[in-house]
Amino acid sequence: MPLVRFRWLNRLTEGAVDLLYPAQCLACYAELEETPDRIGFCLDCRDEMGRGDWPVCQRCAARVPKIPGAVPECAHCCEEKLWFDRALALGEYEGLLRSQVLAMKTDRSERLAGALGQLIAVRMGDELRVLQPDAIVPVPMHAWRRLARGTNPPAALATTLGKELGLPTFSRLLVRSRNTQPQVGLSRPARFRNIRGEMRVRKSYSMEAPHVLLVDDTLTTGATCSEAARMLKRAGAAKVTVVVAARTLIY
Ligand SMILES: [Zn+2]
Ligand SMILES: [Zn+2]
Repeated sequence: MPLVRFRWLNRLTEGAVDLLYPAQCLACYAELEETPDRIGFCLDCRDEMGRGDWPVCQRCAARVPKIPGAVPECAHCCEEKLWFDRALALGEYEGLLRSQVLAMKTDRSERLAGALGQLIAVRMGDELRVLQPDAIVPVPMHAWRRLARGTNPPAALATTLGKELGLPTFSRLLVRSRNTQPQVGLSRPARFRNIRGEMRVRKSYSMEAPHVLLVDDTLTTGATCSEAARMLKRAGAAKVTVVVAARTLIY
């Protein structure tokens, strides 16, 4: 039983990502040996894009000090509640993963987003399936920014992840109301103020308490994902888990 419905059109029209297997690694351009999972990164580059071996905040995935016996929670999440329930990241916003995420934002073919989406599915698929999500929704980009860049990385990541996990993806469910000032360079409180009221759930969708995987390319303060989660919950979502390619370490 689908828990998210689009009232008028088939959701299959919502997005497609080019997953043609490249001959070279998309990150280092080394010749690619065919692997069973057919992800467009060589094994060395994949290893470089993993998570560090340290505890992370159970809600926002920020790096936290190792305190034996304590529930890992960051200082921010102790004080204020983000609207999403949990966040998971492929890795940290550093080194190779950072450069790939930045490159993904101008990659009109969306091959990088497709490959990163596949890598997320391979690395985190089991972890995500245990959470039993019902649907995947990307954080929306404003139409003007999408047009200017010619790509929509969160939607491309979400579409690939949905395909790999066998979950329906609703790329148009959330919509950006205004062309918000970019969050880069703003203080933490300013980021939360800047994004408030900037997104909404389209009236053409109805939700019956689904657990939504909310997908974005990066997570910094969590302000954007929190606002998206707030709107999803207001529209009926029961639970929102954030999945991002990269989590910044300092925020
Ligand atoms: Zn490589
Ligand atoms: Zn936190």
